[in-house]
Amino acid sequence: MSTIEPHADKLKYIFDNAKVGIAICNAVDNTLELVNPAFAHIHGYEPHELIGASPGNVFAPECMLRLEAHESTHSCAISDMAFETTHIRKDGSLVPVSVHITVIKDEHGTITQRMANIQDISERKNKEELLYKKEREFRSLAENSPDVIIRYNCEGQRIYVNPMGEKLFGCSADEIIGKTPLEGSPIPAEMMFMEKFHTVIQTGKSIEVETAFMIPNGGEGWGHMRIVPEFDMNGKIVSVLTIGRDITERKIIEKKIEHIAHHDALTGLPNRILVKERTEQIIANAKSTGTKAAFLFIDLDGFKAINDTMGHSVGDEVLKIVASRLMETIRPYDTISRQGGDEFLLIFSDVTDINDLLSVVEKLLLHIEDPFPITEYSLSLSASIGIALYPEHGETFDSLLQNADTAMYKAKESGKNGYCLYTEQMHHNLLGEFKLQNDLKSAISNNEFVVHYQPQIDLALNRITGVEALIRWEHPQYGTIMPMNFIPFAESNGLIVQIGQWVLEEACTQAALWHAKGIAITVAVNISAVQFKRGNLEAVVKKALDISGINPRFLELELTESILIHDAENILKTVRSLKELGIQLSIDDFGTGYSSLSYLKRFAVDKLKIDQSFVRDILRDQEDAAIVRTIIQIAKSLNLKTIAEGVEDASVLNVIGAYGCDEVQGYHFTKPLEASAFELFYANFRN
Ligand code: C2E
Ligand code: MG
Ligand code: MG
Repeated sequence: MSTIEPHADKLKYIFDNAKVGIAICNAVDNTLELVNPAFAHIHGYEPHELIGASPGNVFAPECMLRLEAHESTHSCAISDMAFETTHIRKDGSLVPVSVHITVIKDEHGTITQRMANIQDISERKNKEELLYKKEREFRSLAENSPDVIIRYNCEGQRIYVNPMGEKLFGCSADEIIGKTPLEGSPIPAEMMFMEKFHTVIQTGKSIEVETAFMIPNGGEGWGHMRIVPEFDMNGKIVSVLTIGRDITERKIIEKKIEHIAHHDALTGLPNRILVKERTEQIIANAKSTGTKAAFLFIDLDGFKAINDTMGHSVGDEVLKIVASRLMETIRPYDTISRQGGDEFLLIFSDVTDINDLLSVVEKLLLHIEDPFPITEYSLSLSASIGIALYPEHGETFDSLLQNADTAMYKAKESGKNGYCLYTEQMHHNLLGEFKLQNDLKSAISNNEFVVHYQPQIDLALNRITGVEALIRWEHPQYGTIMPMNFIPFAESNGLIVQIGQWVLEEACTQAALWHAKGIAITVAVNISAVQFKRGNLEAVVKKALDISGINPRFLELELTESILIHDAENILKTVRSLKELGIQLSIDDFGTGYSSLSYLKRFAVDKLKIDQSFVRDILRDQEDAAIVRTIIQIAKSLNLKTIAEGVEDASVLNVIGAYGCDEVQGYHFTKPLEASAFELFYANFRN
């Protein structure tokens, strides 16, 4: 622009109504010649107040300084300049403005005036200020966050790395910003992250991952990463933010907890849970390679006694030593665990030769037998081992463990300090036992019990003077079951009370029938300790006598020594009232129990039944012979009768007779017989 035309109406209208402040300043004295209303308004003046004023003095000292500096450094050839600055309003307040200055020259090219276009930019500045504040707040969050925060652009280049990120990478942000992880990352895990990065870009959804990583200065760390897409206002992904947290410590604790949950605290060996998990792998391997796996269930013999007598700390030491001895014997790829208490489980994979396995087992047994140098006495211990093989004896952890356990019990039964290989038969025995226990409940109502009678012979009279009633169970499936195979169950579950009552009534009724036929014999019935404790024995006996109508002196109850020893006062009362009924009492299996003679008198016992274990060996074993002789002598001195059971041959009979025993019972005469068979035997015996 060179000169200004005289004020045309249109131009004046534009000048007066422009939103931009316009001022013309005289270049010679730097005073304002012309200002429009907007210019005056921006500065809080009326236009006339500014005419003649110097802008540098009134509202733009900084602005004027800039102008001077500009003009001194650039030649006058530069005609335009624009900048932002702050002006002072009339009331002293500040207003941010954008300034655009144009020079006006005369026809000689001399600057006569300057024109300034001024805009109030406070609104924009406020927004900028607000934005800056917000940005500063978020930046501060990111800069001070304990998390690693990295922002990538859509090409995967890092555009921001916070100080935690610098710490993790071990370098300054400047060194890595602008590069993608693939161009090199101090953390290899960041390269793997690119795959996730692309997924986030493709799906627009955030992802969370936990990953292990190698720390630049060594060691392994664990991180939890959240990878989040960031969108512009149009919903387009513009960047990807990753927030990573160092969870190494949490992982260490988790690992510790997992170790505790899967290991036995005392020995440090894997526990049942872990070994069960491992077994799946072992079985899968054995399946694919066609080899066997062996489950060894190991139980220490007599460990409880060590614990009880020497204390738990000695017990714990023993277990630790056993654990390390087992560890020494196995190969690195075998599995060992403590199942609890004094039970250990070893699993050998890759078993191809059973004989090799058994020689390892024998070595194991020998090693366990080594002295335990714990206390001043050197302890010794043995173990019983049950072995079950995959796949023959089970295909799952539970079945193999159970069968190895069953085999271990067999090893214990066979005298301990040994091993036993599982057989199907053991399983059937166990199953059978379980089934028997169940069947026993209905055996009375199903009439499955019978009583057999074994004659008792008076040696002086050479006559049958009594019988012992012995129960048998005619099982519909298994045939005859002997009392030793079901009486212990019946005692443990209390069914013996009913069974015992049934035997008493049956035996008394049978005796009554015989008495009616002129067979005047006593019937001896075995009574269990449980009947004494739980049943109303006196009433039961009375009822049996009433039903049968026999003379009480023909009923004899066989008690064991243990009955009389325990809870003597109560027993004494019951025994006395039984005696008052007029029945007889004998002590069964005499010599095997406590053999305390004092109770014999107190309980008014009539007869001692010398246990067959002494009788059987009387010819071979001097000691047994002496015991039998002594029992007979003592009985005589106490005015008690004696009967020897288990007389199997004539030579024993002769010796027993020579010792002065009153009666005998045994296979030499006959096995226990059914009632009708006994009648025949009785008839023949008398002849
Ligand atoms: P126990 O009372 O000592 O009975 C003697 C056992 O020895 C009987 O076995 C009998 O058959 C057997 N025996 C008899 N003579 C000889 C012999 O010469 N040689 C050999 N080796 N054995 C002989 P059983 O009938 O098997 O009875 C076993 C045990 O079952 C009985 O031992 C008794 O304790 C118990 N029992 C039997 N019936 C009953 C019952 O009704 N109630 C109770 N509570 N227990 C019973
Ligand atoms: Mg008996
Ligand atoms: Mg006996």
